[in-house]
Amino acid sequence: MIGLHRLAEPVVLAENGERWLERYLEQRRRNPSQRPDARQYGHREIRNALRAMSFYKCFYCERKLSELEDEIDHYIEVAESPEHAFRWGNLYLCCRDCHGKKLPNSSIPVEECLNPCDHSMLPAAHLIFSDEIIRPKSGSRMGAQTIRKYRLDRDQLNYLRLKQLQRFERFVRDLYIACAREGRPFTQEEKEAIVSFGQADHEFSLMFRSYLALVVPGME
Ligand SMILES: [Zn+2]
Repeated sequence: MIGLHRLAEPVVLAENGERWLERYLEQRRRNPSQRPDARQYGHREIRNALRAMSFYKCFYCERKLSELEDEIDHYIEVAESPEHAFRWGNLYLCCRDCHGKKLPNSSIPVEECLNPCDHSMLPAAHLIFSDEIIRPKSGSRMGAQTIRKYRLDRDQLNYLRLKQLQRFERFVRDLYIACAREGRPFTQEEKEAIVSFGQADHEFSLMFRSYLALVVPGME
């Protein structure tokens, strides 16, 4: 998870959100288990704005997502607060696993967790990595609750993060070999390529920032 800057509300939502909500609340009065229409809150324009916001990554685990994989999550669950069903600030983009595996608010409330869209809390201040393993930083309760709620320590993520770390290590090793062979230091371009693993558009960038902070001062 990293901090994300929420873009302006898509026009389709600004223009239709109130009407969609009214109709949904009416349906819900007749059938309390009625879900909001995913074609509405998941409209192409809304999805595209969320994808642009997160560099095509899951808001929670930072996996890169293809357009077929991403899902829209209601940050505050519809079951708990149907009034938030079409609220722009409540729509988050995530992978199927974070969506399906996240613990409900009744189990771990969002208030106890990091929110990638709330700039008053920095994920890097609460989460840290030992290689591919995520941990709460300095015993942060908020970090621990975030890991628990979104299951950020699940095996599948550990595997994907390890793969990315191995890719990074091969990349750096090959650069070292090239530099040794040519008897020169890293070029500016090569240094930037290394640091780019920790940039916001890179998959699992928070993990790489933890890692790069050990070797590149000021990275965190
Ligand atoms: Zn995810």
